[in-house]
Amino acid sequence: MKDEIVKIEKLEDIIDREMERHPHSQPLLQAFRHVILARNRILEGLQLAESEPLVLDDIRFQGGVPVIAQYPLIREDDPWKDIVQAMIPAVQEGFPDLREDLDRLGNALQADDFDLYDYFRRNSEEQQDLLSIWAGTISIAAERIGFILNQASRIVLEKRAGDIAEQIEALHWEKGYCPICGSFPSLAVIGEKIGERRLHCSRCGHNWRFSRVICPYCEREAQQEMNFFYIEDKPQESAFTCEECQRYLITLNRVSDLNDRDLDVSALGLTHLDIILQEKHFVPMTVTDWNVF
Ligand SMILES: [Zn+2]
Ligand SMILES: [Zn+2]
Repeated sequence: MKDEIVKIEKLEDIIDREMERHPHSQPLLQAFRHVILARNRILEGLQLAESEPLVLDDIRFQGGVPVIAQYPLIREDDPWKDIVQAMIPAVQEGFPDLREDLDRLGNALQADDFDLYDYFRRNSEEQQDLLSIWAGTISIAAERIGFILNQASRIVLEKRAGDIAEQIEALHWEKGYCPICGSFPSLAVIGEKIGERRLHCSRCGHNWRFSRVICPYCEREAQQEMNFFYIEDKPQESAFTCEECQRYLITLNRVSDLNDRDLDVSALGLTHLDIILQEKHFVPMTVTDWNVF
């Protein structure tokens, strides 16, 4: 219990520091503060039913087939309804405009009107279809329902990713998408000492090592056409851009200690870069709750 409190307090400090560092992002960080803290609190207390041990086909994995394609990371017996219900007050706190909508969603879940697992087990295109149906049923914009459901899947995926991370640590992974859930990264971090690049997945929270000279999205090797975009006076904050696939990846440079950071919080502090890059017609490698304008 004590560890949990310390962890949440540390996260609060991290959010405060990010707000000082990036005053323009304060409203966004303030809104997400409630969501991120609630997500972490739920994660700390989350107990998932015992599942069969992960047996990976190492050859397939090292060939680029992520864990999620070999092992169920999303399960029917996961406490979907409890998690979404627990997230609703935090999202309402951070995003007051959603208050009434989420009351209606909470009531519909209470009445078992929706089978949440039916949503989580689908691929993203099929998820959109189902969201449109639900949106019509309870008169809430589909994106708003999707927003809160993403928070729930992050909690379950992060829990399982944490259990699996050690098991895959020694295996080779040379892909720009997440070895656990298969999503493209939302942020990259380049360490201060050895200068290795780590990619961060916002769908499951996992971080993994990746070459600095290859585009994570299209795997093209660095040549002249690969660039880093900087804003004057802030050499630590940049975006990797690829002319080949026209994607970008927000990148923190020379980070000395990852433990002093929460990479989702860092990404929220850097959305001014997302705006600039998208004005230059680059596309993010992955869509997050905060990088589409
Ligand atoms: Zn992931
Ligand atoms: Zn590329």
